[in-house]
Amino acid sequence: MSTMPTPFASPSAGSSAPSSGTIGGSATSSATGSATEKFIASAEAHSAHNYHPLPIVVASAEGAWMTDVEGRRYLDMLAGYSALNFGHGNRRLIEAAKAQLDRVTLTSRAFHHDRFAEFCTRLAELCGKEMVLPMNTGAEAVETAVKTARKWGYRVKGVPDGRAKIVVAAENFHGRTTTIVSFSTDEEARADFGPYTPGFEIVPYGDLAALRAAVTDETVAVLLEPIQGEAGVLVPPAGYLAGVRALTRERGVLFMADEIQSGLGRTGRTFACEHEGVVPDVYLLGKALGGGVVPVSAVVADADVLGVFKPGEHGSTFGGNPLACAVGLEVVDMLSTGEFQQRATELGDHLHAELGLLTGAGKVTEVRGRGLWAGVDIAPSHGTGREVSEKLMERGVLVKDTHGATIRIAPPLVISKEDLDWGLDQLRAVLS
Ligand SMILES: *Cc1c(COP(=O)(O)O)cnc(C)c1O
Repeated sequence: MSTMPTPFASPSAGSSAPSSGTIGGSATSSATGSATEKFIASAEAHSAHNYHPLPIVVASAEGAWMTDVEGRRYLDMLAGYSALNFGHGNRRLIEAAKAQLDRVTLTSRAFHHDRFAEFCTRLAELCGKEMVLPMNTGAEAVETAVKTARKWGYRVKGVPDGRAKIVVAAENFHGRTTTIVSFSTDEEARADFGPYTPGFEIVPYGDLAALRAAVTDETVAVLLEPIQGEAGVLVPPAGYLAGVRALTRERGVLFMADEIQSGLGRTGRTFACEHEGVVPDVYLLGKALGGGVVPVSAVVADADVLGVFKPGEHGSTFGGNPLACAVGLEVVDMLSTGEFQQRATELGDHLHAELGLLTGAGKVTEVRGRGLWAGVDIAPSHGTGREVSEKLMERGVLVKDTHGATIRIAPPLVISKEDLDWGLDQLRAVLS
């Protein structure tokens, strides 16, 4: 266990918001031919347009703050979709990575390396499970979980070959591979990418009766986000996750919780499932597991589930590499004290209390979320999510819109209360 000083001391030190440096701005407000405009034009010309980023070009970052190529500072209230739960340049994580960079970074799984066992052991412990299968990106963890459930279905449950079904929820977001977009209900994510992988049943999120009706003897797993992040931070009705747990147990079906965005401290607990006292059979982890340094993902479950894999049946060249394990181990250590979860709870209560006032004032139609995580639906009279995001950017606050009217707020868990309040001041100003 770590003897490092509290991780919360450093990030906001020297970054008290409104006092130093230029705060915020936009490409349009600076002279033509600015560095920002040149970077963006060049990116537009030479990269696929699969994103529509806000017009800011980041050059450096620390804690909850980013600095762009013009020297302007911005409060990061998105935190890489929760990949940056521990903030930018977190000293513990950077030191762990640097130390590992000088030793060994990649072996492939053709050989053992000396960080692997400790990472898997400690992560399994954090999850209360027996085994870990490390991968790199979140989508790979989801693909791994799909393969795990199918193989478990055939080998353990006794489902006839080729018949396995996995039940998923409408409005899900589980990644971008061809199989994963096959069971997306978002036409933008799915259209033109067929033919689609069969074997998935889609039911409305939060509807236990629909889920019960969809489960058959050929169902091997239910795959859900305990809170749907991309959909706009949708929290299911109270009792839903517990109901899913009871149903899956009763029907001999794996409950696979995609905690890639909701897990690892974001909601005030290590896992969002904990809010309902639920322990799924399989955890899918990613994003914050790599500490904002490297992509690290994992599927975590007991041996009766992950034990279905034999050598040669699944793998990844980079999965579980020494650098990933060194950073991931530090992440697990940081989470095992509960400090980050506590902080997400306290700051989250404050965030939701403040956002609630905006709802009362008619500027916002709904606020959802848990912990330091909120989906805020902007009242149509106060602009679209994108417009609000752009105005916030001009005031030095970075968020991301989703589904037209919603903005997502998910600052690094290391943000100071002062900085959070300052960010909320800017939101109030934009909506005034
Ligand atoms: C981001 C995300 C993924 C996909 O992760 P990538 O690393 O982008 O592949 C999967 N599931 C959820 C819930 C996510 O938020």
